[in-house]
Amino acid sequence: MCRHKVQLQTWMLKVNDMGLQRDTDRQIFEAATDFYQGQISATMDVCHHARTNEVRLILTLFANFNDGQRIGSSLRPLHYDLVLLPIISGSSPRLCGHVFIDLEPTTSTNVVTFHGVDITLLDVSVEPVLGVRNETTTNFSDDRFLQLEDLCFSGLYVSVSRVFQRIQDDPERQQSNIILKQSLKKGKRYRIGLLYMANVRDESKGFYRINYKTNDDSCCHEGWFGGTQMQVTEARKVLPCLDEPGFKSTFDIIVGHNKAMSALANMPEMATVPMVNTRDWMWTSFSRTPLMPTYLLAMFVTDYQHLEQVYQVGDRTVKLRYWGRPEQLPHFKHIMEVTPKMLHYMETYVNQPFSLPKLDFITAPIDLHFEAMENWGLILFRDDKLYHNEETDSEDDRFYRTQIMAHELAHQFFGNLVTCDWWSDIWFNEGFSSFLEVDIINHAMPNETFRPEAAQLKGIRNAMKFEEKHVKPLTVVRQVETADEADRMFDAISYSKGNGLLLMLRNFVGQETFQIAVATYMERFQFQSVNSQRFMEILDEELHQDREFGRTMNVTKIMNSWTGQPSYPIVRCSKTGDGRIRLSQEPFPMSYNYSSHGKDTRLWWIPLAMTDAKRPDFSHGGTYPRIWLTPDRPTLEIPYFPPLSRHQAAEDAENSWIFINGQSSSYIRVLYDKSNWRLLSNQLMINHTVIPKVSRAQLIDDAFTLAVAGLLEYETVLDLIEYLTLVNDEFVRSTSQFHLQWMKERSRHNESLYQLFGEYTRRFKYEKMDKGESDEYHNLIRLDAFDQLDGIDCHNWSDGVCVDQVLRLFRAQMTGTITPGEKRAMFENLERNWCVVIRHAGKEEWEWAWRATLRDLSSTQRIKILSAMTCTPHRGQLKQLLARVFSPTIDQNPHETFKTIEKMAENPVARSMVLNFIKNNWESLERHFKRSGDTLKLLASAAKHLSNAEDLDEMFQLIFELQNKDNKLDHSVTEGILDGIRSNIRWAEKNLDEVYSVLAARVITRRTDKPFTSPYVNTI
Ligand SMILES: [Zn+2]
Repeated sequence: MCRHKVQLQTWMLKVNDMGLQRDTDRQIFEAATDFYQGQISATMDVCHHARTNEVRLILTLFANFNDGQRIGSSLRPLHYDLVLLPIISGSSPRLCGHVFIDLEPTTSTNVVTFHGVDITLLDVSVEPVLGVRNETTTNFSDDRFLQLEDLCFSGLYVSVSRVFQRIQDDPERQQSNIILKQSLKKGKRYRIGLLYMANVRDESKGFYRINYKTNDDSCCHEGWFGGTQMQVTEARKVLPCLDEPGFKSTFDIIVGHNKAMSALANMPEMATVPMVNTRDWMWTSFSRTPLMPTYLLAMFVTDYQHLEQVYQVGDRTVKLRYWGRPEQLPHFKHIMEVTPKMLHYMETYVNQPFSLPKLDFITAPIDLHFEAMENWGLILFRDDKLYHNEETDSEDDRFYRTQIMAHELAHQFFGNLVTCDWWSDIWFNEGFSSFLEVDIINHAMPNETFRPEAAQLKGIRNAMKFEEKHVKPLTVVRQVETADEADRMFDAISYSKGNGLLLMLRNFVGQETFQIAVATYMERFQFQSVNSQRFMEILDEELHQDREFGRTMNVTKIMNSWTGQPSYPIVRCSKTGDGRIRLSQEPFPMSYNYSSHGKDTRLWWIPLAMTDAKRPDFSHGGTYPRIWLTPDRPTLEIPYFPPLSRHQAAEDAENSWIFINGQSSSYIRVLYDKSNWRLLSNQLMINHTVIPKVSRAQLIDDAFTLAVAGLLEYETVLDLIEYLTLVNDEFVRSTSQFHLQWMKERSRHNESLYQLFGEYTRRFKYEKMDKGESDEYHNLIRLDAFDQLDGIDCHNWSDGVCVDQVLRLFRAQMTGTITPGEKRAMFENLERNWCVVIRHAGKEEWEWAWRATLRDLSSTQRIKILSAMTCTPHRGQLKQLLARVFSPTIDQNPHETFKTIEKMAENPVARSMVLNFIKNNWESLERHFKRSGDTLKLLASAAKHLSNAEDLDEMFQLIFELQNKDNKLDHSVTEGILDGIRSNIRWAEKNLDEVYSVLAARVITRRTDKPFTSPYVNTI
């Protein structure tokens, strides 16, 4: 987007003997920068007045108005009074609305600009605001309501006033400009009235409707569900508004609906009255919202039922209501148990009460393209993310649903109470809500000892992977102009890198200081929209008061090095041989090339937590940084802990491992020297539990990733995971298997190596150990459920599942002879268990599974079964799964399609079929997904394992053809696909020989030698 500059003002500043008049200078900048939200630049000129012999500085400020979709700041919205009448059933759905927007011009103007997409303006009125209307004095029989009834039910309207010259629509910017006959004066307040029509949509953007059917044993019910999705920039599809998060207003909302349905909005209902002229239709009004941005508005019209509970703290109560279809209500038990506890935790943590008198939770009866939306006071969930079926859902499902609720409750404060002033800063909302999930769940479900932490680590590591493979450098805070750019901000970087950066920040400022800053931030900026820098400034205020830290460091500066630069650093750690440790930082080598612009000079402020074999400490204390690498001091040598004597220090350094970044305390990867890797491998072989599970998994993930980047030998990596042949370490094994599978897929063209991978991974230990970390296992490993059944002696493992046993249970399920305990065991890891069954069983089992997918299941259940079915080695069955997408008799939802096909591409037998399917059905898939970009994302996912020149040629050709057909194809994704295949080819050329020899050495050792026995194993 090009930008243009508008000169704002020029000041002449006299430079006296004391230098520039600093205060004036600073005040001007601060005022202007606040006003234009950072969109400011300046030039300075010095001139010398010969006559007076004075030196003057000429400071000129420019506002960088852009040609994007931001509205200028000449109008400030104060209040909206919205009446909305959605007709959601039948063949001509429509949305009629009337809104009064109270505005305050910041400069005199006769142009009113607002956002609007597919909004047809029918009438405009302007009047001065004499006072704020009392929210309880609505007269439902006045002209405004009669006019809307006429408009929506009869198509009639009469223009009441004509106060404008013309309306200029600007579809590119999603804006309209009303050119008024008279100017609005700066400092006065005006009420603009807009009568309009808009669309009721079929996709969940703006105001949408869903026709749903439910089947129970006796009969069926068909219903309509209507509602809004305003984030990211969809409010402009529902009402004309100033649709930016920096604008906060109050809202009075009235919704028209059939009397058989209920209307819900952000605030509690005030009154429901019949319409004057339309039988069976009602108006429901809602009390006034606090100051809030348009993207958090929500309205729903539904025939759902609800369960209710009261959340009470002292005299204050908040009504909590859980809305769903009748058959869902019994399954709200779990979420109703944890939600009040989690809300209480959040209120205590931020030291602020929840701002609204009620909080509703509602499910949409389809798979939305997101899990949930944090609308203030009215949180929306994907169909089956609110209820939990104790009989058929797993513990992982329960945790995941709790995690989503925790995230949305965190948003009620981070995002809703204090809002980011622009989309470029959205990481702070999303990162904070993701970051707090762990603490919130730990509070509400104290028995969940490991899942929250594991989920956080997985998220952070996924963000690193996203950054490693992304072809374009993406910073956390980045330029956003258009609606598409705003939409793209909701990525792994905002959510999970944001999460990782806040974890790092809390580790280095300390838990207590961090929480004080959170409370101060909430207190100071509640009901406002601000930049995340304000939070860093509060931390600086705190730290500068009484800590050593504050004198030398600056949180704002430290965090800017992470949010303003893409990717992350690798920290090298090596021993110098004389009792010292050398530490240095360098950027992770990315596929895009910084060096084309000269040397890659990115440097970070890196807090480093360190521990060692002598005093292993991975606790919270152990994650406090012992040392910093900074841009000024990127390389450092430190003594090996407080040495008693030089001789002893050297000896310690030689024999004891060092562990940096315990519990993933900083957003980095660590590359050790050879001897330290060896010491760590030995430790894992002797007793892996000395290093906690998160740190073990992180160590292994670092090692594999550094090997892919060419910085570490595979010999070293496989040494590190050799201990998995001795103990069942499920979490670390699954981390390792993810990487081994990645390598295996790139070895497909080398038959003997491909086979070798199978032999290698079969050496891993799957049987549960009965001592050691068994308590942690109980929360994680689904194999446990089987262990309760019988003492198994299994010789045929597949994906950690005993094949004979799972086949027996599946057949018992088919014949109805399965016991409740066995059924529970099967459901606990349904996808993995059924995958093994489908891979090893015959036609009969397949057909039974197919019939199961046609039953009235939750989407989560159906996706699990369909994903399991993609494990089949039979091409005919795979074809059947693909054909199902467009079957006229099966109503497969887009989310199920995406997940199933994505999973199918992991099956080597299916991969080329999947690619052909996407290629041959491109347009139909685009229509099926309803969301542009999803087909391309699916292609990217299916292409991620391609690794030879032929694949590259074919993909190049396909992308070329697609680009000719569709010029809106996202280039960063197509480039990413091609770049991914190229780097797969490079990796295979460079590494396959080495990988073959290290794998072979281990497999052959096993064949001929007695296996190594761990001393740890001997002790139990
Ligand atoms: Zn969120």
